[in-house]
Amino acid sequence: MSLPEVLSSIRAAEARAGRVPGSARLVAVTKGQSLEAIDRCVLAHGAFPLGEGRAQELRDKAALRPGQEWHYLGPLQRNKVKYLRPVALVHSLEAVWQAEAIAQAAQGWGRAPGVLLQVHNGEAQKHGIDAGALSGTLREVQATGLSVRGLMVMAPDLDGDPAREERLLALFTDTARRAHDLGLSELSMGMSGDYPLAVHAGATLVRVGRSLFS
Ligand SMILES: *Cc1c(COP(=O)(O)O)cnc(C)c1O
Repeated sequence: MSLPEVLSSIRAAEARAGRVPGSARLVAVTKGQSLEAIDRCVLAHGAFPLGEGRAQELRDKAALRPGQEWHYLGPLQRNKVKYLRPVALVHSLEAVWQAEAIAQAAQGWGRAPGVLLQVHNGEAQKHGIDAGALSGTLREVQATGLSVRGLMVMAPDLDGDPAREERLLALFTDTARRAHDLGLSELSMGMSGDYPLAVHAGATLVRVGRSLFS
């Protein structure tokens, strides 16, 4: 696959779902990729937000591409929040203390990133906020002054599960309904293995990595 092929399959999934063309935006996940590979496989095809998953790697790459829109989608550790200054959107917020740490650092930056709340996906996975705690967490994160734009979910690995498509669609549809109920408009869902299903369910940001570089 290549970026143009991924984009056309996003557009095809939008069309099948009766969605506005371009309403699902591609976030190119570039963790572990060199700037040379990013230029060749992503930016040669147009301007796209780039998603990184490790704070120091993000800082180092962003220093060399200052005009670029950067997103962060990895784990958030207190002592690494300082590296997130270049970030426009954090996809992976899962605790109120993380919001407090970002809001505090952002005072020194003069601007704060938007954030998405990562929802737990129901499987044995450690990351994400339990569905029952979402609305309370949302209020506490908003109280820090950060702008909560939406929800993010990471699908579990269901390879080999005969009901894989149904289960992924159920997770994505559920997450879309929760965002709607909370009055949040952005939905970050879908990776290389499952993004057409996520677009079908209403994803506004799809986080594709491997497929852009293979
Ligand atoms: C790595 C990563 C992606 C991209 O996954 P691919 O399978 O490479 O498309 C998306 N979201 C998160 C949170 C990731 O860490």
